[in-house]
Amino acid sequence: MKILFPMERNSMKQHWLGIMTLSAVLKKGGFQTEVVVAEEEIVLEKIKNNEPTILAYSTPTFLAKFNIEFNLKIKKRFKDVFSIFGGPHATYYPEMIENEGIDAICVGEGEGAIHDLATNIANGLPVTDIKNLWVKENGKIRKNPLRPLVENLDNLPYPDRDIFIPYQSKNPLASIWTMSARGCPYKCTYCFNHSYNKLYQEQGYSAVKVRRRSVDNFIGELIEYKKRWPATYFIFVDDIFVLMPEWIKEFSEKYKKLVDIPFVCHVRANAVNNEVISEIKKAGCTLIKMGVEAGNDHIRKEVLKRNMSKDLIVNAAKIIKDNGIKLFTFNVLGVPSSTIDNDFETLALNAKCKADYATTFIMRAYKKTEIYEFSRKKNLLHEEFIEDIADTQNIFFSSPITLNPKDARLLENLLYLFSISVKFPWIVPLVRRLLIKLPLSKVYQLIFTNHYRFIKLLYSPKKFERIYLYLDSVIKI
Ligand code: SF4
Repeated sequence: MKILFPMERNSMKQHWLGIMTLSAVLKKGGFQTEVVVAEEEIVLEKIKNNEPTILAYSTPTFLAKFNIEFNLKIKKRFKDVFSIFGGPHATYYPEMIENEGIDAICVGEGEGAIHDLATNIANGLPVTDIKNLWVKENGKIRKNPLRPLVENLDNLPYPDRDIFIPYQSKNPLASIWTMSARGCPYKCTYCFNHSYNKLYQEQGYSAVKVRRRSVDNFIGELIEYKKRWPATYFIFVDDIFVLMPEWIKEFSEKYKKLVDIPFVCHVRANAVNNEVISEIKKAGCTLIKMGVEAGNDHIRKEVLKRNMSKDLIVNAAKIIKDNGIKLFTFNVLGVPSSTIDNDFETLALNAKCKADYATTFIMRAYKKTEIYEFSRKKNLLHEEFIEDIADTQNIFFSSPITLNPKDARLLENLLYLFSISVKFPWIVPLVRRLLIKLPLSKVYQLIFTNHYRFIKLLYSPKKFERIYLYLDSVIKI
């Protein structure tokens, strides 16, 4: 019995930790798994040779439309193949099961559910009562309750990275993404975490608590990778890596001794202090990513619900930089109810933090988030976002907020010129008075792309990789 994970070709180079973990759980249960390019001939060929088959689609919002349409094409040819959709879009919008061709939706954590599904199908048992699944049954939809979250993450196998090896770039030095914890206790209005926590709370479970693997389990995974890919560096994608100071202390000592490879991690400004940052610096942290998000106090504290002062953010940045760690920030422009002046306040705060690179997005208002409801109530959303966000393309550069074309251009131009302005704040008056008003988005996009390439080259943790990445970006080696 085989579980296929069809994936849109361009998205395969990303780090799909969810699929890797599901694959590991399934393999441990004795099933075969494979990631396949979501192209008809390829998937049909696999199905022909491996029935019975489950098609499992990990579905963030930007792939929802693609996955639904692709799945339907396959189901029209092989109606007995079982299709299941999981991931963020399915979790927050399980109503997507109403689309023709979808047999089931997995809500929340999927490891236990997909294992039960594969087991039942393999044994010819019904699948309609499996917890976490919404399942179609004779034209009706069975909405099963959630099961508790995985309490002890050490019980999960290490992510199955082999499943992606055929699709990875030729670069043997690529970074490895992994995580030590699940969950976040904060309630930023644009983030899925508060909806996720609410979803579980409604069924009597607490999801607010951060669940963290033991240090030994986490280090064990890293040692395994180090043996197989000796020149890599790690990116720890925990929402906030520096939580739990005791854990960090133990991790730092063992990591330095047993792994000793540069790493990158994410922090939240209010969790930063000199003790914890100097610990991870000693262990090998070379770059930290931290959310600044918005420079205006009202937007940051009330609209985004990130209750941190500017001083706290600047101080956290100072601690990071004083410890000799590079700082990349995350920012969001075009927050509902904000103005372009507010976005320039964000730029000023980044400049004050002396960010080495400022990553900037235009606000997304995903369904079921608080910011979506806030925007909807204030009539700020485009129709297409109210109808079905899955239809929206180009998610990183278009705004869900109703803007006239002139404002949309200002926002897009500022996005492209943001990080370079943070680096060279003396150009800000020119950017503000003139540059963002000119119809030169294509030129600014070029500046933006090349600045990013340059930064990657400059700050990648390994020198050899810097050269490789640069050559790769220019001549596609
Ligand atoms: S701190 Fe980060 S992960 Fe946590 S809720 Fe806010 S944005 Fe989400």
